[in-house]
Amino acid sequence: MSRQKLVVGNWKMNGSLAVNEALLGQLVGDWPPRADRDVAVCVPYPYLAQVAAALAATTIAWGAQDVSEHDAGAYTGEVSASMLKEFGCRYAIVGHSERRQYYGDLDAVVAAKAAAALARGITPIACVGETLAEREAGATLSVVSRQLDAVLERVGADARKLVVAYEPVWAIGTGRTASPDDAQAVHAALRARLTKAGAAEIPLLYGGSVKADNAAALFAMADVDGGLIGGASLKSPEFLAIARA
Ligand code: PEP
Repeated sequence: MSRQKLVVGNWKMNGSLAVNEALLGQLVGDWPPRADRDVAVCVPYPYLAQVAAALAATTIAWGAQDVSEHDAGAYTGEVSASMLKEFGCRYAIVGHSERRQYYGDLDAVVAAKAAAALARGITPIACVGETLAEREAGATLSVVSRQLDAVLERVGADARKLVVAYEPVWAIGTGRTASPDDAQAVHAALRARLTKAGAAEIPLLYGGSVKADNAAALFAMADVDGGLIGGASLKSPEFLAIARA
């Protein structure tokens, strides 16, 4: 069985009603339905309704960039999976390195967020990745394994409903990309853990300064099933060139 290819745009905290309308219009106009790969965009919460409406009649899916680990209650500022589900949300990124770094999302919280999304039928895109210091200390595999195992242990048999993204922190928004061989080495290790957890066939994405001109080489690697795309997802021609790669 071949694994589904997936390219997801992460808009981060960018956009406005007018800018989104133009971007979504280009995406819809230039992305014919393709059965061999899925495309999605993960947008800031206030734009979920706009994006849901703009993409309703298309094959482009959409999601959020985070989700609360709680379902309801006194958690000011949080947004729950059941709220996202009301809009028809398909994906929620959890454990993005910017969340881990700036908002203190620890492994256990990331795992709880993944479980909360799954409980409401939303596919978590669980991110793992090492910092530059960790890479230089030779700790890449131990870090990403620890991060992934936290999620796998928490979600159990639902591991086969996950998407996982390997995003080396030193490559995010920096213009530095892991070489295809470096990415493949980490992906192979992650795939081995997923296989043990009964989730060998889930999409395993690479993220970190993916551009139109390096996407094909990264996506050609045996265990790379697509990408999580930050900066380049804000430009429709660049994003769609990556999705075609
Ligand atoms: C990201 O935000 O997930 C990301 C990979 O960003 P960039 O593509 O800009 O490095």
